[in-house]
Amino acid sequence: MATHTTRMLIIGSGPAGLTAAIYGARAGMEPIVVQGLQPGGQLTITTDVENYPGFRDVIQGPWLMEEMQAQAEHVGTRMLWDTIVEVDLSGPMFRAIGDGGDVYEGETLVIATGAQAKWLHVPGEQELSGKGVSACATCDGFFYRGKKVVVIGGGNTAVEEALYLTNHSEDVTLIHRRDSLRSEKILQDRLMANPRISVLWNKRVERFVAHPEAGDLRALELIDTETGEKSEFETEGAFVAIGHAPSTELFKGKLEMDSSGYLIVEPGTPRTAIPGVFACGDVMDHTYRQAVTAAGVGCMAALDAERYLAEKAFAEKVTEAAE
Ligand code: NDP
Repeated sequence: MATHTTRMLIIGSGPAGLTAAIYGARAGMEPIVVQGLQPGGQLTITTDVENYPGFRDVIQGPWLMEEMQAQAEHVGTRMLWDTIVEVDLSGPMFRAIGDGGDVYEGETLVIATGAQAKWLHVPGEQELSGKGVSACATCDGFFYRGKKVVVIGGGNTAVEEALYLTNHSEDVTLIHRRDSLRSEKILQDRLMANPRISVLWNKRVERFVAHPEAGDLRALELIDTETGEKSEFETEGAFVAIGHAPSTELFKGKLEMDSSGYLIVEPGTPRTAIPGVFACGDVMDHTYRQAVTAAGVGCMAALDAERYLAEKAFAEKVTEAAE
């Protein structure tokens, strides 16, 4: 069991964590990134990426993350693979413990543990992921231009995704398991007023059905939640929008969270209530959730961490001089 010490400890290796690392390393903080169970984060389970600035051609999510990691390492980041099972934020050094007992200590801590889209966990969903089934309309909607698509869910995310998809498709169906939506009234009004959107009420998705030859999504098997009646609904694209779960289990009781478990930061900053502890990316942002916004806040976390260390060093000098 080893102890790894750094000026900047980063938990999570998606765009937020790796951007914090790139900035932190260039500022001489010799960061350590502890990669979690999904090194590279959510982008490693997507395919085509067309909205990350700087690339005129379509790039692949896993490739982008490999490049980001290589860039972080190139400027001096140490990447370590471990699963953090416990954190101690009492300071002055912030501590994270890996499942094998290794200890990671940081003078500053950047939390970039991300979030996971919730899935329905029904047959065909995993197999057809990236072949007609997606959990992100903003990322993948463009690829369904002119096609018949569905969105599954009844919250703000589902309604926003359905509205967004009308930019690409004239035939969008929202499928919800109840007869009323959970989303805000203004979004519901927009949804109902949009001629490109229909709503299928009281339907639960039982199975995603593949095209026998092409192998991509052909239809959904539905069950009526009131009558139990089964039906099939043909579609070329299905967006599962039943919410996201931030990876914040480790910080329960230690950092403030909202009712959905997202870390609360000082508005417009990545600063948590504990000085020296920062949060960036999807773990603190349930609104934008884009690779580029996560990277942006990761940069802000590194700049704030640098400032925090400089102020701490200055305060220590002043105290020493006074003694
Ligand atoms: P929500 O938890 O609000 O909604 C999830 C929806 O998915 C619900 O309608 C729920 O159905 C449905 N659902 C959940 N599990 C299943 C399942 N297994 N099968 C079928 N349907 C299921 O999640 P959102 O992602 O929509 O929103 C999360 C948070 O983010 C909210 O606080 C929301 O307000 C916020 N948000 C805000 C936005 C904004 O302000 N512009 C944009 C997006 C999100 P049921 O209703 O029956 O429970």
